[in-house]
Amino acid sequence: MYDLIVIGAGPGGYVCAIRAAQLGLKVGVVEGREALGGTCLNVGCIPSKALLHASHMLHEAHENFEKMGLMNAHVDVDWTKMQSYKADTVQGNTKGIEFLFKKNKIDWIKGWATIPEAGKVKVGDTVHEAKNIVIATGSSPAALKGVTVDNDAGMIVDSTGALALAQIPKSMVVIGAGVIGLELGSVYARLGAEVTVVEYLDVITPGMDGEVQKAFQKMLTKQGLSFVMGAAVQSAEAKDGQATITYALKKDDSAHSLTADVVLVATGRRPHVDGLGLDALGVTMTDRGFVKVDDHWATSVKGVYAIGDAVPGPMLAHKAEDEGMAVAEVIAGKHGHVNYAVIPGVIYTTPEVANVGLTEEQAKEGGRKIKIGKFPFMGNARAKAQFLGEGFVKLIADGETDRILGCHIIGPSAGDLIHEVCVAMEFGASAEDLALTCHAHPTVSEAVREAALACGGGAIHA
Ligand SMILES: Cc1cc2nc3c(=O)[nH]c(=O)nc-3n(C[C@H](O)[C@H](O)[C@H](O)COP(=O)(O)OP(=O)(O)OC[C@H]3O[C@@H](n4cnc5c(N)ncnc54)[C@H](O)[C@@H]3O)c2cc1C
Repeated sequence: MYDLIVIGAGPGGYVCAIRAAQLGLKVGVVEGREALGGTCLNVGCIPSKALLHASHMLHEAHENFEKMGLMNAHVDVDWTKMQSYKADTVQGNTKGIEFLFKKNKIDWIKGWATIPEAGKVKVGDTVHEAKNIVIATGSSPAALKGVTVDNDAGMIVDSTGALALAQIPKSMVVIGAGVIGLELGSVYARLGAEVTVVEYLDVITPGMDGEVQKAFQKMLTKQGLSFVMGAAVQSAEAKDGQATITYALKKDDSAHSLTADVVLVATGRRPHVDGLGLDALGVTMTDRGFVKVDDHWATSVKGVYAIGDAVPGPMLAHKAEDEGMAVAEVIAGKHGHVNYAVIPGVIYTTPEVANVGLTEEQAKEGGRKIKIGKFPFMGNARAKAQFLGEGFVKLIADGETDRILGCHIIGPSAGDLIHEVCVAMEFGASAEDLALTCHAHPTVSEAVREAALACGGGAIHA
């Protein structure tokens, strides 16, 4: 009898298992994939970041080496080798989780799980008993009406297919201007593909601060990506080695088509709970197909919990991890907590884009008075030395109390810089607290302090 069986070994599931084991529980994790780590380590965060890194290095070699006196670097791309670098990166991480499972005496129960009844998890012909069950089965790419993905054929692909194309395409259409589409589109654009992003809405990266959306789209356009906005894709067809999509422009209903070597469908993800038997078990779902949970990640069935991409909220690895840790604490009789108001989001393009808390639009809702401190990376010595002077830090604080409400960064190391603001927000800090904190020179983090200064007496270098 296990104290806890976790179904799914993604960042939600494996973190939950490790924390539960640290708290003294006997834990088993069911995972059907060949390797631990879920979407994130196998076909998500990690392989995409490996390709983003490699393609950024290529960009540096082509665009910036000679500016620094590094001459005659003729860099060619060996796609097979880049794919093995990606595979090695993935394997190093998934094996790391296997090691952590052994270290924490967690059983990896290999196979696909169903839950025949509360307290029981069936894998193959074996039924395992558990006092508690956590569903951490994640998500899978959402389907788009009229479009059939075939990753093996490699012409109409989802993110999993796009990470493992047989060759670098000369042209690519990306359907969807969300994080995944823009990251992968940006990889292939840097590798030489002509990339066109087709988006249903009139803005890219829905939900982000409006000013950042506009600046980001401008930068990506400058890097060579093209955008077709307000376009509803209706079909995609692969024929004679090319893929063609048809779409209608929302503004006038006019019909258009685009042909490319590869079409990447990146229109979002949906919770993956198929085959678990949740209907028969009586687990209540939301109308969008997520598992419904209460404030302690408990489902409608006693002893069954759910976390990560399978439940509502941002579909992010670190949100899944936080929920994993918190639910383990709850199950062990402690107090698990996740502050959903302070979950950063990052896009790992160059420049990076990062945000936490309220956008300017959200902060102004209800007539709240706000202060905005903005600082351009052009005024930051370190960023300029690295040819990364594009972009800005935008800090939003309450107009009366000066308390930090949100931060939006587009620029170098944005994904790292955002965390000082996260910590500040967790401590209820004011913009002045950040402005009075000494930041080492020369670092790009000085731009965050300057933005905080701009909320008060004014930035120094702007
Ligand atoms: C291309 C791409 C890039 C991404 N980049 C980022 C990023 O940079 N940062 C970020 O925060 N997020 C990123 N994400 C999102 C991130 O991967 C997910 O939010 C995260 O993996 C969710 O974690 P999870 O534990 O809920 O589920 P998952 O990681 O999806 O893991 C669920 C696991 O459960 C297993 N499973 C499912 N059903 C069963 C069953 N019945 N029995 C046994 N096992 C089962 C699956 O095989 C899977 O391994 C990216 C996603 C993609 C696709």
